Amino acid sequence: METKKKYFIETFGCQMNVHDSEKIAGMLIDLGYEESSSKENSDIIVFNTCCIRETAELKIMAKIGDTKALKKKNPNLLIVVCGCMTQQKGMSDILKKRFPFINLVIGTHNLNELEDYIKEYNYKSKFNSIVWDKEQEIKEDTKIYRTSKYNAWVNIMYGCNNFCTYCIVPYVRGRERSRKVEDIVKEIEELVKENKYKTITLLGQNVNSYGHDFNDGRTNFVYLLNEICKINGDFKINFMSSHPKDFSFELIDFIATHNKMSRALHLPVQSGSNSVLKAMNRRYTAEHYKALVDEIYKKIPGVSLTTDIIVGFPGETEQDFEETCDLLKHCRFSSIFGFVYSRRNGTPAATFENQVPDKVKQNRITRLFELQHQISREELQKMIDNKFEGVIEKDEKGNLILKTFNGKSIKLNEDNLEIGQVRKVLVTDIVNNELQGKVV
Ligand code: SF4
Repeated sequence: METKKKYFIETFGCQMNVHDSEKIAGMLIDLGYEESSSKENSDIIVFNTCCIRETAELKIMAKIGDTKALKKKNPNLLIVVCGCMTQQKGMSDILKKRFPFINLVIGTHNLNELEDYIKEYNYKSKFNSIVWDKEQEIKEDTKIYRTSKYNAWVNIMYGCNNFCTYCIVPYVRGRERSRKVEDIVKEIEELVKENKYKTITLLGQNVNSYGHDFNDGRTNFVYLLNEICKINGDFKINFMSSHPKDFSFELIDFIATHNKMSRALHLPVQSGSNSVLKAMNRRYTAEHYKALVDEIYKKIPGVSLTTDIIVGFPGETEQDFEETCDLLKHCRFSSIFGFVYSRRNGTPAATFENQVPDKVKQNRITRLFELQHQISREELQKMIDNKFEGVIEKDEKGNLILKTFNGKSIKLNEDNLEIGQVRKVLVTDIVNNELQGKVV
């Protein structure tokens, strides 16, 4: 029997990249490859890269370097590098100089062409780079190999128009382009047919500005959600990422009145100081953000709110940092993703002169996490003796959990539960900061 060629994809960065890797896998399976559990046994290795932080780039470079030995052992091994890192100006030359054994470098704008490139590729060719400058046309016939049994990711738009001063994304992912409502609805109809997927997560760099590029006076994010909610089936809708400047009160009302909308919201604030928000070019104030949060808590009972915070942004004073802590106390997030600001070449903030010393940044992030841990603990305590609905899943250690529709994980000490079922669970205890519960 003929053995199939094998692929291995190493993914770095955000959910957007994780979903892109599902598309890459779909293309490779279409070409007759099958998934391999290790690089050593593979015929093609794809590095789907991220450049959001320079430390991530260093890590990726080291991983690419490690494949030199594999390539020596197997000269027919095909090494492909794609993703945000390769879309940066000059990156192809750097990769060529450092890793001439790479076979193919492609950018974010022509990722969908990968299948054709591999079909046409001459394995004996040396280093090859095809990085388009112009933004990718939206392709609707991409094959996707979905890696989760419970949650399906669905792109609703690509690119970003916001140019936050610390962020490289608009430079490597291009301007905002929305998929058509009917194409998104068609994809989701297939996904929820026969109860296949219980949660659908809509993806975009700023989903709240979905449809603005159509300029038709009708299509926006709430319009899209309304069309998705009309689809028959028992499923919940999540979305990420949101931008507070575009997160509307209309959207809050919509979530509050539609059962299919998940009660887990992620709304990145980044800072509680208006002067830092201005320097970041975020285009909202801390007051506006708090007003949104107050409205969310008022209208959507049981909602669980999370956020992103950057500490030590250039020019951040102790007073600015205290204002971020005050915002945390006001908003009482379930959890936060906290980051120390690090310079990202190619962004405006990397050139700001008033950089904050590392020691100060470290001190602030420690204090930020201490404060948030206390708030998170208090919020978890409030869940004891309450019931929550969600989907039975397995965590990364193989334990059965209930993933609630407001974004929490509750550990279950039962083994006769079917994965993928929707169940109700009573929270009984907290052990090592983990919720414990039993099915009711
Ligand atoms: S909204 Fe800001 S942080 Fe988010 S991708 Fe766009 S530029 Fe980057």
